Amino acid sequence: MNGHPTREEDFDLFALGALDDGEKQTLEAHLAGCSDCLRKVAQARGRIALLAFAAPRVEPSPELKDRLMRQIHGTAKRDAAEAIGETRPDRGRFGRWWAAVVVPVGAALVFASIFLWNENRRLDQQLARLRTALEQEQKQVEAARSVARLMAAPDTKVVALASMPGMPKGAARVAYNAQMGILVYDGQLESAPANKSYQLWLVPVTGAPISAGIVNSAGGETSYSMMKLTPGINAKAFAVTLEPAGGMSHPTGPQVLVGPVS
Ligand SMILES: [Zn+2]
Repeated sequence: MNGHPTREEDFDLFALGALDDGEKQTLEAHLAGCSDCLRKVAQARGRIALLAFAAPRVEPSPELKDRLMRQIHGTAKRDAAEAIGETRPDRGRFGRWWAAVVVPVGAALVFASIFLWNENRRLDQQLARLRTALEQEQKQVEAARSVARLMAAPDTKVVALASMPGMPKGAARVAYNAQMGILVYDGQLESAPANKSYQLWLVPVTGAPISAGIVNSAGGETSYSMMKLTPGINAKAFAVTLEPAGGMSHPTGPQVLVGPVS
């Protein structure tokens, strides 16, 4: 095979990686200097890729796999026989013709199911990652919009919280819009003692304090958080208390920061 391959199916076999090593090396060497054959290899690859995409995502039947494997082995054996002087032109011709049909289709189905199975798994994983990233991004955008709406609303109240005597030092601000049910906390506090958490409360005009979550969980740093509460609750004050780690359903510990709504 010093010139162009004489058998058209060699391009398919090559594209499938089904040529034996000697034929493969000869064709590779030839392709380095022949653009015509290079194009034929590209066309063969395209055909196989099309078959791969057109193939249903099923395991090829054992018979098909078997025929494919027999064909590949049979071709190798016959070539070996030719090399030692046994010539069987009729069978050879038939084998090659058969190879042109069975090998590309059969191998394409085998490769297609493996390729598509892998591809599908990869895409599923990629989709899950993208969906998570998108959800996070949507949450951030939504939060940013809420804060922007909150700050722009004329009925939003900004309350300053001051530290109580004998308590950890700090200060905070709460922006709250009762109608929207949105609260933004921005505060700084000394680190909480071990096994304790700072918890923010909305003290309504009537009824028991409502938890607005844990704040300042990283000691010493400014904590910024947005909370969504049930809309329509009028606040008379905001307070931060020291509670067992993780917070409580109602305030049990001392008040650290307090700010009345004016
Ligand atoms: Zn050529």
